Amino acid sequence: MAPTPKPGVLDITPYVAGRAGLAGVEHVIKLSSNESPLGPSPLAVEALLKAARDLELYPEGSAQILREAIGEVYGLDPARIVASGDGSDAILTMLANGYLRPGDEVLFSEHDFILYKIATFANSATPVEIPDPKLRFDVDAALARVTPRTRMVFIANPNNPTGSYISHEEMRRLHAGLSPDTLLVIDSAYSEYVRKNDYEAGIEMVSRYPNVVMTRTFSKIHGLAGMRIGWTYAPAAVCDVLNRIRGPFNVSMMQQHAAAAAIRDRAHVERSVAHNEQWKTYLTEEIRKLGLTVNESVANFVLIQFPKGEKNSVKADAFLGSKGLILRGVAGYGLPDALRLTIGSAEANERVVAALREFMGR
Ligand SMILES: *Cc1c(COP(=O)(O)O)cnc(C)c1O
Repeated sequence: MAPTPKPGVLDITPYVAGRAGLAGVEHVIKLSSNESPLGPSPLAVEALLKAARDLELYPEGSAQILREAIGEVYGLDPARIVASGDGSDAILTMLANGYLRPGDEVLFSEHDFILYKIATFANSATPVEIPDPKLRFDVDAALARVTPRTRMVFIANPNNPTGSYISHEEMRRLHAGLSPDTLLVIDSAYSEYVRKNDYEAGIEMVSRYPNVVMTRTFSKIHGLAGMRIGWTYAPAAVCDVLNRIRGPFNVSMMQQHAAAAAIRDRAHVERSVAHNEQWKTYLTEEIRKLGLTVNESVANFVLIQFPKGEKNSVKADAFLGSKGLILRGVAGYGLPDALRLTIGSAEANERVVAALREFMGR
């Protein structure tokens, strides 16, 4: 007899990250993981280096420095914030660990962030996929799949990999159809990029309802993916659960100081949003001119759909790769005909358009 894992664990397909390199290509531009082309705030790097002088000391265990900075910037009670030193991925995992029992049903969209399925299987719970033929979370289809066993609903808003979003109104309608003992987890990893009047990141929902949680990350707009910092704004009872199950020193002092400085640097955030807006519009328009379908995106990436046949996504990916451009194949997300492209530097974006023009023979 050998040790056996919990039911569900071996149903997990391990997460495959966006490629970082290409065989035989020396200088690559990585546009596969939605990282920031502007990088982090210089103030964050400075704070990180300063904190590195005291490595022999344990960090303050509740991430108070960071929670206070977040509270100050967003006007939130720091007691209702829990931080993670392993990204917001770890927050999502902790929520699943804290609330899911074997046989519970967990709803999420067919084309959505793969981690939701991993966290569900890891707790012997049952994933229930919501069809989204329009590549946008479908509230009616979700509500049609709610049963007495539904315990958790995950929604990335904006969605990864489609770039679509649902309005505050629709989010409230989704919430209204859930039982009070079902947890609605709003993953707002890309919320800072959204420029839509009918969008709400989740703060208002969490403030109002005891069964809604919002998760956020420093990996995208703040350019700190390598530092692995995430946080959640959640009801007091949910924070209590997370504070019991998280590691006692789960955010290092370097992480706390770097993230606090990053979130306070509003000018850097504004620059990053402006860059993204400008180049997302450019890429969307130029790639559409080549006859390809580009989804309307509110995030820092676009989804490009390729036709079948001669100009298919696999050939496009190989061609772009030969030019040193790494995009993200999203077959693992159920979209074999599409590639996801992160908005990059001005030079990177122009190179992508030139390469796609050549590939499409225009
Ligand atoms: C990138 C991303 C995250 C962030 O993950 P981290 O662990 O914080 O780096 C969370 N959710 C979605 C949908 C993402 O695309």
